[in-house]
Amino acid sequence: MIKFDFSTIPISLSGKVVNYICPKCKVEYECPIEMVLEFEEEDAMYGLPISTPPYTICPNCKYDKGVPQDYQSKRGFHHIYKN
Ligand SMILES: [Zn+2]
Repeated sequence: MIKFDFSTIPISLSGKVVNYICPKCKVEYECPIEMVLEFEEEDAMYGLPISTPPYTICPNCKYDKGVPQDYQSKRGFHHIYKN
C-alpha cells in the first residue's frame, strides 16, 4: 500500500482517503477524498455517466486510470473494483 504524499496538495485536507488500485500494475494506493470528489465533479461537468470511476494516476507506473476499490460516490454510484 502506497501512502499518498499529502504535502504535494495545495488545499487543506481532512485526512480521509479512498483506497485505489491500479488495474495495470496492481499497486494499491490511497487518494485524499477531496481529490476524488474533485475528479467526480469534473466527470459530472463533462457529462460522463455516473458509473465512470473518478480515475487517478497510479503513483507506481503513472497509468492514468487507477480506480477506487470500494467507493460510494457523491453522484450516487457504488464503485467496486473486481479483478
Ligand atoms: Zn500502476
